[in-house]
Amino acid sequence: MTEKIYEYKDEQNWFIGKWGGLGLITLLGDTMGEELYFLNHELGRLLENDETVAEDESYDVTIVKMASDFHLIRFIVEMIAQETGRDLAVRQHQGSILVTEGERIRLVHLPAQGVTVNDFFGQTEQGLSDFGDTILIATKNEGKTKEFRKMFERLGLKVENLNDYPDLPDVEETGVTFEENARLKAETIAELTGKMVLADDSGLKVDVLGGMPGVWSARFSGPGATDASNNAKLLHELAMVFDQKDRSAQFHCTLVVAKPGADSLVVEADWDGYIAFAPKGEEGFGYDPLFLVGETGKTSAEFGVDYKNEHSHRALALQKLLEVFPTWQATHS
Ligand code: IMP
Repeated sequence: MTEKIYEYKDEQNWFIGKWGGLGLITLLGDTMGEELYFLNHELGRLLENDETVAEDESYDVTIVKMASDFHLIRFIVEMIAQETGRDLAVRQHQGSILVTEGERIRLVHLPAQGVTVNDFFGQTEQGLSDFGDTILIATKNEGKTKEFRKMFERLGLKVENLNDYPDLPDVEETGVTFEENARLKAETIAELTGKMVLADDSGLKVDVLGGMPGVWSARFSGPGATDASNNAKLLHELAMVFDQKDRSAQFHCTLVVAKPGADSLVVEADWDGYIAFAPKGEEGFGYDPLFLVGETGKTSAEFGVDYKNEHSHRALALQKLLEVFPTWQATHS
C-alpha cells in the first residue's frame, strides 16, 4: 500500500487525495450534499471486484474548493488508474461524463438537467434515436409475441418478432427434446442476426404413452396434421385407458434465451392435468379441448384466455424466466 498524496489545483478546483483510505470525500468547512454522496458511491463501485485492491483500500479526498464534477471525477479516476494500473479514462459526451475502462463504459454521470435521447445517442435518418436493448422472439405468431412483449417491456426491453425479419430462413425443429428444439431456434437466429433471441418449444406429454406426443405434438397424426386430427389420434391411442387417473398428462414449455457468444439461458415448466374422454370447450387451440386442468374437471378450452395466460405451462415458464433473466442479462452483456 502506498501513502502517496495526490493534489489537483486550478483557479476554481482544489482537491487533495490519499490512497489507502475508506472511500470518503470530505468538503472542507462544509457538509457533503446528496449529489456528491451519490457521485462518490458510483465512483466507489469502480473498485468493486478489483482483486488488486484490498477490500478496505480506497481513496480519501478532501475538497478545498470545487467548480465542476468533471474535474473531481477525473482526479479520482486518475488516482485509481495510477494505483491499480487499470486502463481507466474520463471523457465528456454531450454534457455527460463517461468513465471508460478499455472498451467498456463503467460510469455515466449526467448533468443535473439531463440530456435528450437524440443528443446522447445521435439521430437516425428518421430523426429518432434507435437505442436500448431488443429481444427478438423467434415466432411469427403475433399472439405469442403479445404475451412475451408484456413481460419484456416491463424489464425495459424492446420486443421484435420474425415478421420484422422476413428474409431469415425457417429453422427446422429436428431435435428430439423440447430443449434441443428451442436451443436450435434461439441459437441459430441469434447467430444469424447478432441479436438476443428468445425461442420456445411446447407440447403435450401423456404419461401412459411414455411422454408422447411430446416434441411431435403439432405433427402427431402425420403429414398434414390438424388440431382435430391430432385430438382424434390422441383419443384413439387412449381408447383402452378407462380410468381417468391413468390418463395423466402435462403441457410442457421450454424457453431458451440466446445471445451470440454467451451460454444460453434455459427454463422449463409443466402444467399438470388429465386427458378427457371427449373434447369439451371452445377456447384455445391444439389439445386444449382434451386437457383437463389439474383436479378442476374442466378442460383448458373451457377456461378463458385470461385464466390460461396466468396458469398455463407458458405462463409458468415465463414467470420462472422473469426471476432469472435480469441476472443472466447482467452477467452476459
Ligand atoms: P409449439 O411449441 O408452438 O410448436 O407447439 C407445439 C404443439 O403443442 C402445438 O401445435 C399444439 O398442438 C401443442 N400445444 C402447445 N401449447 C399448447 C396449448 O397451450 N394448448 C394446446 N396445445 C398446445
